[in-house]
Formats: sequence, C-alpha cells, structure tokens
Amino acid sequence: PEVITVQELANRMAEKGADLVKSLFKMGQAVTLNQSIDQDTAELLVEEFGHRIQRVSEADVEIGIEGELDPVESLKVRAPVVTIMGHVDHGKTSLLDALRGTDVVAGESGGITQHIGAYQVTTKGGDIITFLDTPGHEAFSEMRARGANVTDIVILVVAADDGLMPQTIEAINHTKAAGVPMIVAINKCDKPEANPQKVRERLLEHEIVVEDMGGDVQDVQVSALKKTGLDELIEKILLQAEVMELTANPDRAAEGNVIEAQLDKGRGAVATVLVRKGTLKVGDTFVIGAESGKVRALVNDKGQQVKFAGPSVPVEVLGLSGVPMAGDQMTVVENEARAREVAAYRQEQITRKRTASVPTNFENMFSALS
Ligand code: GDP
Ligand code: MG
Repeated sequence: PEVITVQELANRMAEKGADLVKSLFKMGQAVTLNQSIDQDTAELLVEEFGHRIQRVSEADVEIGIEGELDPVESLKVRAPVVTIMGHVDHGKTSLLDALRGTDVVAGESGGITQHIGAYQVTTKGGDIITFLDTPGHEAFSEMRARGANVTDIVILVVAADDGLMPQTIEAINHTKAAGVPMIVAINKCDKPEANPQKVRERLLEHEIVVEDMGGDVQDVQVSALKKTGLDELIEKILLQAEVMELTANPDRAAEGNVIEAQLDKGRGAVATVLVRKGTLKVGDTFVIGAESGKVRALVNDKGQQVKFAGPSVPVEVLGLSGVPMAGDQMTVVENEARAREVAAYRQEQITRKRTASVPTNFENMFSALS
C-alpha cells in the first residue's frame, strides 16, 4: 500500500521534490509530486539520498487506538471518565461539587482537595468514577478536535425550572457527534416551579428518549443544592459503565492526555494528565505533544504525592520542558534519545500541518513538472 506522497517524503528529507521525481523516474516509476509511493520505494529513496530511516512514527500510530494493541488477557476494568455538560447556570459546577462531596475516601486521606481539572470519587460500594472538572462545550470539542476522545459518559444537566436552552441543545449535538452515551440529570428539582416531565418531553424533539418514555437513555431527578438524587445518579453512571465494559492494560508504558496545563510559580510547567492505559510512574521518560521530559513528581487530586497512576487516573505531572495544550497526547518512551526522536517527529508534523494550509508551493511545483 502507498504510505506517503513524494512531496511529503521530500519535505521530511529536506530535499527538492523534483529531485525525488527524477530518481523515481530512473527507478522506472513515473510518479508526480502529489502521488503516493509504497513503503519499499520510500525506503529506497531515503537511502539513495543518504538519509537514515527512522521508524519514529510507530509510537504515533499506537495513539488513540484504545486497547487494540493490548492482548485481551491484559485488559482490566477501569473507571469511567465522565464529563458534565449543560446550559449556563443549570448547575454544572454545583453538581460537580456535590458529587465530589460523596467521595468516601476524601475525608480519610487527609489530603486537601485540589482543583487539577479532574477528580476521582470512590463510591460507598468501592467503585471509582473519574469526573472531568472542566465543564464546558469548548473544552470538550477542542479536545475532540485534537483527537482526544477522553470522555466515556456525558451527564447532561438540565434545570427543571428552565428546561432545554440553546447550550443544552449544543451539548446534545456535541455528545451525539462524539458517539458518547448520555445520562440526563434533571437538576433543581427542589424548586417549586420545577417541571421534570416537561424536560423529558422536550428531549424527544432531539431524539433523546428517556427510559420512562420507552427509550434507553437514563435520566435522574436531582438537586445539587439539596444533594438529593446523587446516589441514584452514581448508580446510573456505574450501570452505564458496566454495559460499556471499559478496560485498559495497566501493565505497559503509559499513554494519556493533557486535561489542563499551566506554568506554575515555583513548580514550573505542570500538566494534569488523564492516564488512558498503562501505568505512569515517577522517573518515566515521556513525550507530551512536541515536548519531552522526565516525571519528577506526580500529585493526585487530593494534593498528595504518589509514585504511580494507572488507567483513568488523573494526576498532575511535574518535570515538563514546556507547557503543553489540552488534549495533547502523553506517551512514555524507553529513553531520552527516543523521546527526542518522537518529539522531533511530532514537531515536524505540526509544522507540516501549518505549511499544508498554504497550498501555493505545492501547486507551483506540480505545474512546473507537468
Ligand atoms: P453552572 O453555570 O452550570 O456551573 O451553574 P452553577 O453550578 O454555577 O449554578 C448556577 C446557580 O444555580 C447557582 O446560584 C446555584 O446555587 C444554583 N443551583 C445549582 N443547583 C441548584 C439546585 O439543585 N437547586 C437550586 N435551587 N439551585 C441550584
Ligand atoms: Mg459553572
């Protein structure tokens, strides 16, 4: 199969596209710049031009193919990752806080609650749920745009006194586009003017059919203020997660995504990473986006230093060379040489994406040849 266009290969080697076309012609292949060539031909060309073949792209190929490269027997159940979406003032922040308050280990751990962009709740039954603490449709779609579909389940918050509003509908559309299952939390049910039934009916117009109305979308009446319905909501999240059979291999080099990142006074560049698979450890060498580094310390959502973090666990990572962007991929690699190699490869990808949006070069070269 064809793996790369002549122009792309030329770019990577920093050679003239026309020279590659000439060489290909000598090899008996009449190919133009924007045509693709196969792996063997590409390797021949690379050697002919005196370059080394780097198979750095393999690490990148693995990215985002959850579980696929791990043998089935290595897969273990992991916590669901939940995002809360909904219209402004419908109670997203209040619900996140209320759910956080249900954590049975928060008190015992002695740690101080930290806002690191995500947190974990241990339920009465001992199950764990990861909540992304950055509600907002922009964060959700930006992450998706960057290829990071980190959310397993969306909770759609709808205020029972206000009903479906523009951002509610926007959230429904984002969730549908992402193909993520939804649980509807009808909030503010403590208010006398609350009308949960009207919310269910209005949802029908957007093809969201809750169980009561004969559909398969779970819904629950809650009050983030009075803290009612929270156990039921948690139950429904766990039920949904069970159906989805969420798994990951914890015994491999870690891969994760940046949830948020900033430059911290005193601590330097800090990123909250949600581990997707494998186990991230202190001392691990990694690449985040196009930055490389070595894990100096890991801090959990309770503000405690930890030695490692497994699948679905959010942790602050210290030891970065720069501030990455939300959604950026973190990949643990075997050594620093490899880290630099992958980082350089990714940097090149980023640069090429930028130049690709300026089509003049390409067109000119093509017409010059034909
Ligand atoms: P967000 O914009 O979606 O994050 O909404 P907030 O959590 O900031 O809540 C907006 C307002 O609604 C605040 O004044 C909350 O106190 C109030 N609120 C949130 N949940 C409830 C609830 O269950 N009942 C009532 N009565 N008020 C609530
Ligand atoms: Mg809020």
